[in-house]
Amino acid sequence: MIIPLHPRLSDAELHELVEIAAEFNVRIQPIHGEGRSVYALMGDETSQELINRIEGLPYIERIDRIQAPYKLMARESKLSDHRITIGQRKIPGDFCVIAGQCTIDPNNKNYFFETAHSVKEAGADMIRGGVWKPRTSPHSFQGDARSLEILLEARQRTGLQINTEVMDFEQAKLCVEAGVDCLQIGARSGLNYRLLQEVGRMTKGTNIRVLLKRAMHMGPVSEFILAGEYVVAQGNPNIMLCPRGTMPPLEGYRNHPDESITPLLKEKTWAPVVVDPSHSVGKAVYVPHAALAAVAYGADGLLIESHCQPKKGIGDDPKQAVTPDVLAQLIRESRELHKRAQHFLKLSQGA
Ligand code: PEP
Ligand code: MN
Repeated sequence: MIIPLHPRLSDAELHELVEIAAEFNVRIQPIHGEGRSVYALMGDETSQELINRIEGLPYIERIDRIQAPYKLMARESKLSDHRITIGQRKIPGDFCVIAGQCTIDPNNKNYFFETAHSVKEAGADMIRGGVWKPRTSPHSFQGDARSLEILLEARQRTGLQINTEVMDFEQAKLCVEAGVDCLQIGARSGLNYRLLQEVGRMTKGTNIRVLLKRAMHMGPVSEFILAGEYVVAQGNPNIMLCPRGTMPPLEGYRNHPDESITPLLKEKTWAPVVVDPSHSVGKAVYVPHAALAAVAYGADGLLIESHCQPKKGIGDDPKQAVTPDVLAQLIRESRELHKRAQHFLKLSQGA
């Protein structure tokens, strides 16, 4: 990772750097974080000769060789000052909530507008709404592209930013063109490296955020962080890691709750952790418990399914969406608890 002397290299400086690296078959990827840019060396092996050449340039402060397998997402990376904006909040630091329906019902769009207003009222910072849905059965409702318009209208009506899941290149492209604020990569796609790369490439240099769910069958935390590294390595550092429960489930729950990996993730990487308790426990009455546990573990935010009238919802909503009044109380209590958890988080990060 190349650290420039000034916050950002000029075009001429970058050009010179790219030319030198090309002699060694290495590519330079600029990554613009908040207030500071870094330049990643992208190649299998970086020779000492290349390092010496680059270190000798007058506009280079130094080159960091990071030991962790995730060179860009490691806590010791220079990107660790990067903050991600969700509405008015900046994470890590503030606490953010992304809430809304599992699935937008294109035949009942007024429910979605009502939900959008209710999550705003409850104190959420971003609205979520599923346009395309990954369903276990091919006979279940798969989502509908028309719902993208509904999601955009909800943003216009409430002024809140919006999040939705994309499962392939086409969906990602439609969302980027429409200016969706946050793209969600779901648990089933968490190991789809091509999709991670495409999304990183498409959102490079934009303020589009990427919420990456932990795949249900992911192993060590490094596997999760490396999946995020795919997005960052394409030039977009606006990545959030989202534990959402793993398989096999804990008996009685939808998945095996995994909010407990939060402090571990936060020790290893600078990326904010936004936990999804809804898919983890899978039942509305358990969601507040899992949500508060995640905050106590040091989460920077929560992703919560909420519906103005859960019983009228489709997809996961009848079972696991919380009502707006539960959401409002949960957000109030989470913000309090988040402040208290920060002290212990600093200790676990050796600060
Ligand atoms: C969702 O957020 O509605 C969803 C399908 O989540 P996951 O990818 O975690 O199953
Ligand atoms: Mn869902």
